[in-house]
Amino acid sequence: MTRRDLLEYLQDFAWRDIAAADPELEPAAAAARAGAALDPTGAEDPLAAADLPAMGRALAACRRCRLCQRRTQVVFGVGNPRARVVFVGEGPGADEDRIGEPFVGRAGQLLNAMLPSIGLKREDVYIANVVKCRPPGNRDPEPDEAAACMPYLRRQIELIDPAVIVCLGRVAASHLLGTTAPISSYRGRWTTWAGRDVLPTFHPAYLLRNPAAKRESWADFKKLREKLRVDEPKG
Ligand code: SF4
Repeated sequence: MTRRDLLEYLQDFAWRDIAAADPELEPAAAAARAGAALDPTGAEDPLAAADLPAMGRALAACRRCRLCQRRTQVVFGVGNPRARVVFVGEGPGADEDRIGEPFVGRAGQLLNAMLPSIGLKREDVYIANVVKCRPPGNRDPEPDEAAACMPYLRRQIELIDPAVIVCLGRVAASHLLGTTAPISSYRGRWTTWAGRDVLPTFHPAYLLRNPAAKRESWADFKKLREKLRVDEPKG
């Protein structure tokens, strides 16, 4: 993707005016896609799985909470199994439930458009949710549903071993960080979870509803870019 292509793409989401005005804007970095393929025939304990594909296979039959009752399929996660950044959302929506991949609707398209502005592509990162089955009517996950599914997210993150976790939105941040405060009060501030650096920021769906918040979101993404530069493995 050329710089011009990137700018035109970002314009579709009104991200351009914010990102393009920043003199530090970079073209996208190239990287190979290495996502976790899922085989729904596996039957092992998901938490005992040695890698993401095995965990995905085992989790496909999960009935640990009531969200199993109306799902089309478990939406395990997608992306680079060795990603330096894991993005965490709240749960699958209708498109994700149908396709079996997180963040494939409009919010996912916006996230895809935001990543190149900090030198990343969707294929570079890993994307998962707090709950892996769609809450009916896209409601927030109930506390017991999130508690049932969080061990799987924790294990996914252990297997990926990222440098950074980005919480997308209030629901993800509340379950990872244990806060009920409005996300606007702590977004953009680095914290830690399970010994890893965590950056809470707005959910892309919120940005679609509140375009004015894209400026703050861009500021958060620049902090993420800076963190990845500082922590970049040498050699
Ligand atoms: S939401 Fe998580 S814990 Fe609940 S059934 Fe789906 S995979 Fe299992």
